[in-house]
Amino acid sequence: MLGPPGAGKGTQAARIAENLSVPKVASGDLFRDHQARDTELGRLARTYMERGDLVPDDVTIRMVMEWVEAHEREGGFLLDGFPRTLAQAESLDAMLKNLGTPLERCVAITVDTDAVVQRLLKRAELEGRADDNEETIRERMQVYDNQTSPLLEYYGNGGILATVDGMGGVEEISERVKTALSGS
Ligand code: AMP
Repeated sequence: MLGPPGAGKGTQAARIAENLSVPKVASGDLFRDHQARDTELGRLARTYMERGDLVPDDVTIRMVMEWVEAHEREGGFLLDGFPRTLAQAESLDAMLKNLGTPLERCVAITVDTDAVVQRLLKRAELEGRADDNEETIRERMQVYDNQTSPLLEYYGNGGILATVDGMGGVEEISERVKTALSGS
């Protein structure tokens, strides 16, 4: 699942995973879990997350790969918020190639930036996430544009990109995602 912060990736990821009966993971949740347990990785990630920057590739890749290794025999899986850099995408491809289960689809959710900022500010109020303040939101948008959006071309070239308009109600976007996933 690819998309800028606040595009509704998490909501849609949960629905797809349920529909397909596959496990899913959000890299942001893995980091937050490490922080809650106050692990070394959690403490390292915190400094980056608070600024709205990406956690370095090496530790991020290792963390997600461990999850993939633990879940790859469950008939498929869904990754939310990973990969976010070209290096992460290439590592994921290499690993999945080794496992003989190449990535089938990349669902990219597109949104209007102003609407997304409003959505994130609202989420900041509701969930009190430390990285949901206006300055960090702007930084995360920039990071998405600079480091993550090149993946649209990467997966587009790989022929597995499905782009979904993320503006509208949850149900209606869910239907779009389903349609995008069924058209192979
Ligand atoms: P998210 O919950 O997906 O918005 O992620 C929250 C924060 O976790 C991001 O702003 C990053 O600091 C970090 N993070 C999550 N996923 C990644 C990733 N794939 N690569 C690097 N940092 C990540």
